Amino acid sequence: MKVQKFGGTSVGSAQRMKEVSNLILDGQPKIVVLSAMSGTTNTLVEISDYLYKRNADAANETINKLAQKYAGVIDELYDKPETKQLIADFLQERFDYIRSFTKNLFTLFEEKIVLAQGELLSTTMFTHYLLEKGASAALLPALEFMRVDKNGEPDTEYIKENLATLLAAHEGVNLFITQGFICLNAYGEVDNLQRGGSDYTASLIGAAIKAEEIQIWTDIDGMHNNDPRIVDKTSPVSHLHFEEAAELAYFGAKILHPTCILPAKLANIPVRLLNTMQPTAFGTMISNKTEKGKIKAVAAKDNITAIKIKSGRMLLAYGFLRKIFEIFESYQTPIDMIATSEVGVSLTIDNNKHLQDIIDELKKFGTVTVDTEMVIICVVGDLEWENVGFESAVVSAMKDIPVRMISYGGSNYNISMLVKATDKHRAMQALSDYLFNK
Ligand code: ADP
Ligand code: ASP
Ligand code: MG
Repeated sequence: MKVQKFGGTSVGSAQRMKEVSNLILDGQPKIVVLSAMSGTTNTLVEISDYLYKRNADAANETINKLAQKYAGVIDELYDKPETKQLIADFLQERFDYIRSFTKNLFTLFEEKIVLAQGELLSTTMFTHYLLEKGASAALLPALEFMRVDKNGEPDTEYIKENLATLLAAHEGVNLFITQGFICLNAYGEVDNLQRGGSDYTASLIGAAIKAEEIQIWTDIDGMHNNDPRIVDKTSPVSHLHFEEAAELAYFGAKILHPTCILPAKLANIPVRLLNTMQPTAFGTMISNKTEKGKIKAVAAKDNITAIKIKSGRMLLAYGFLRKIFEIFESYQTPIDMIATSEVGVSLTIDNNKHLQDIIDELKKFGTVTVDTEMVIICVVGDLEWENVGFESAVVSAMKDIPVRMISYGGSNYNISMLVKATDKHRAMQALSDYLFNK
């Protein structure tokens, strides 16, 4: 069985949903994971912001606009008056439900319910389109099998068991549609896998059913060798190792959610990135195969803060790094990059929520300096230390750009450099020009 995930743009209009149906109706058994139609989750976030601020008028106005947009899809998507009526009633009921939140207390709990509506809408609409076309398909409610534990980590045993039970209840059906992104938490409340998390849903399902392949269908022909939103002349990378893809996703390649690779890697299930608008393009194949001696791609992670702790006592003081790390641990702030010298240590974080507290505690160990508005630029490929010439190529590409930190050797797949946010664009372009387009 395959898992095929279609993102927001891929199901963003009636026309797109019809195209997706043509792609999936090939008789092969599969679970299809859908995101919300593009723009919907952003609008639901906007509605939630109004609800938090108790601005019921603005919330209602935004809800009405969204409802109108959805009503417009019905006419184009369905042929039969019965289906049109059925979906119109369904939409009415869902939007009335969202409106009901304007009357009561609005907390994080209600927000999660509001954010879940996008995927509930898209999957119900799409499944009824398939049924109207005469396909045999079943909707699997993600809230009946997708669950995270108390730490927000996927509850893999629960997912596996409940998904198996649901699949077994549909004998004779081999096409299943389900919601990406949404899940229950350990307390049985509606929750989600973070923005962009439908990719994660797909890989968790893939691992749970031991799928032969997980396909992520989006609006571009695979992972490009640099961010196409920022850099000119990028091109698709045909093969990536799981580790390379995970590094790129973690360091900002938006095409993949950062957590999506791990379940696939652990279960050794290949992940294909494919383009809904150009289905015959090869895209990117992510597997456990390494292409020797190749630099594959560049990605960038924004909103990074660099912290330097300088201390004359560092070198001889064993336990120094542990004490430093414990401070970050106690504020639940993960560290991304780290560089050490005889007199100090520099590290980076991407979450400034507890920055001031962390700085105050670090000051006990030395002089602390902080640089905000930095960016990590990450170069990914076969960067095993015994390969020669790759680090020098990366550094040569960056010859005109001030680099605050470099980290190499943490894995065999990455060199990371920290630059000012204002240098991000030219650093990424310089790397593309030097490494890929010379
Ligand atoms: P979906 O809605 O299908 O999940 P996303 O918008 O999350 O799609 O991801 C696809 C987008 O990721 C592309 O349109 C592209 O602009 C962006 N992107 C950023 N970096 C890369 C990259 N290295 N390769 C391909 N796409 C990238
Ligand atoms: N709809 C959700 C979002 O926009 C999840 C996803 O698209 O992956 O973040
Ligand atoms: Mg996405």
